[in-house]
Amino acid sequence: MLSIASAPETDMVAREKELTAYLASRPIDVLLDLVDHDLLTADLARQLDRPKLTALLERRASCQGEDTDLFYAGDGESHFDGELRRQHVIYTWCTGCPVATACLERALRDKDSGGIHGGLTEQEQRDEARAHAQRLAQARTNDARIAAEESAYLRAARRAARTGAFTKATPLSIERARTAVAELSELRAARRARTGWTA
Ligand code: SF4
Repeated sequence: MLSIASAPETDMVAREKELTAYLASRPIDVLLDLVDHDLLTADLARQLDRPKLTALLERRASCQGEDTDLFYAGDGESHFDGELRRQHVIYTWCTGCPVATACLERALRDKDSGGIHGGLTEQEQRDEARAHAQRLAQARTNDARIAAEESAYLRAARRAARTGAFTKATPLSIERARTAVAELSELRAARRARTGWTA
């Protein structure tokens, strides 16, 4: 069998897509593992539902607890001051933020271009939203469906908990997901090495 590092590029890309789709459907603990391995790509964030995007932001955002007023334009702010403020925020918090892709994706779905999200300025977010209009509309529809299903699920879960029928994620399913995280990490490292990209 070929090792990951020597597999053809097309096979690597296909496998990466497969792993990404699988991991997007996993529980939040697995997604946090991905974040901690620096594997929360834009492609993966786009496949997450809104509650998962929010959960990742709540647990790993670099700007947590910071003065978020700085992320939005102040009253009467001059163009020059706005530019300085944006550069300061992006450089200080967003550039190294491990959940920047989730932050941008949620802001685009919420049509929230009133401040800095995912390291992008308001104008950059509007451009991004235009470029992804169709995909975002589909994602919003999915999110609305999930929100409706969630209330039905919670009602059913409460009933199941009373009768002892509630099933939790098993250690085996978590273990399988963690193996997928490790494989994705190896795959990404191999592709980076192949292109000479070491960042
Ligand atoms: S990308 Fe920037 S605005 Fe978004 S969570 Fe991270 S630090 Fe905050």
